[in-house]
Amino acid sequence: MNYYSTNNPHYTASLSEAVTQGLAPDGGLYMPERIPSIPMAFFKHIGQMSLQEIAFVVASTLFGDDIQSDNLKKIVTETLSFDIPLKEVEPGIYALELFHGPTLAFKDVGARFMARMLALFNNKGGDNENVVNVLVATSGDTGSAVANGFLDVPGVRVFVLYPQGKVSRIQEAQFTTLGRNITAIEVDGTFDDCQAMVKSAFIDPSLNSTLTLTSANSINVARFLPQMFYYFHAYARLAEMGVPVDRLTVSVPSGNFGNICSALIAKRMGLNISHFIAANNRNDVFLQYLLTGKYVPRPSVQTVANAMDVGNPSNFARILDLYGGSYDDICRDISGFTYNDDQILHTVSELYNRTGYVLDPHGAVAYRALKDGIEPGAIGIFLETAHPAKFKSAVDSAIGTDLPIPSKLAMFMRGEKQTVKMSPQYPALRKFLLNECH
Ligand SMILES: *Cc1c(COP(=O)(O)O)cnc(C)c1O
Repeated sequence: MNYYSTNNPHYTASLSEAVTQGLAPDGGLYMPERIPSIPMAFFKHIGQMSLQEIAFVVASTLFGDDIQSDNLKKIVTETLSFDIPLKEVEPGIYALELFHGPTLAFKDVGARFMARMLALFNNKGGDNENVVNVLVATSGDTGSAVANGFLDVPGVRVFVLYPQGKVSRIQEAQFTTLGRNITAIEVDGTFDDCQAMVKSAFIDPSLNSTLTLTSANSINVARFLPQMFYYFHAYARLAEMGVPVDRLTVSVPSGNFGNICSALIAKRMGLNISHFIAANNRNDVFLQYLLTGKYVPRPSVQTVANAMDVGNPSNFARILDLYGGSYDDICRDISGFTYNDDQILHTVSELYNRTGYVLDPHGAVAYRALKDGIEPGAIGIFLETAHPAKFKSAVDSAIGTDLPIPSKLAMFMRGEKQTVKMSPQYPALRKFLLNECH
């Protein structure tokens, strides 16, 4: 199957090209040319299937023409080597815990899947001469998931750009201490600056004629599409428990909107989700779009849910494209909510005091939006996207605990930080890459 650019539906690329390029050369985002349906029979028995089995069916439906079945099975199995539990936190409200991977955040799945897919495409001819350079801008969690997903993948170098002083110490340790094929670049600016620098690199023709560059942000189809496994899996676990699945509302804590966009595509493939909630912190450009019909990007502001501090969500272009630009249709499927830091932390403490369940700030935004947006009688799922200990100081002060740091995180904290400092302008990045990669 081919993938077209959201800027020009006549511009198409193969899966291998789309994954290796990241962004289309015209600056658009790649979308699958067709969204294949999954046979209804699959949903009849989904409750008896494991996460890996479900993911393999979904992955085969999407990528089956382009990747041999045994290779795809290996990619899926290796990517999903950990649990994704669905827990009822109060009647009819379920937390889908996506934080049991190596960096304890939901981006592990997409990053690990993409690393394996890229390695497969890169090794096709058996010549490993061609190094792929992965550029990634992070407001915290992308950097750690991508760096760990790609660590020691042959033929791939990773450059992680992050805003100096604006990610938590634990997050920073997860991508600045690895070394080997991972370089961390500490930018004296904001996340939006980092994202803009990376975007400039992708559309710089002369740089791209010398270096093979790709993105591991959710603009890359290999990173964002596998996220739809979560939604099929959540549906299956509800079916398995005998919960009625005819009216599901799913609340997704959203930053660049890659995760929710994959859920919208899952629905097009036949997954019966009735309604979506895009939950935002104060960076609520999408909610403003729902309210006004106008999309007006603005600079991001820093919040306690910092992986969602995004002022110009890159996957908005995909959502518009998926709905053929229809504002009415988008509003029918998706509602939006926004919360400030006080509301987020209050939500963490309120749920903890009432039920004992510990939310992280991102999950808290999604939980609260679900409570505020769900219709009576519907079943609600919210995505818990990060382990609460990744935001230890905020969570500890909200609920008055001293959360233990999981050993997976403590290990990173013992490493030595190595970074390259950079000013927030594209020419600095360009010069650095040309020096480094020759
Ligand atoms: C990246 C991230 C999000 C936002 O996901 P998008 O796909 O960018 O919308 C939410 N929560 C956490 C913990 C994240 O790391």
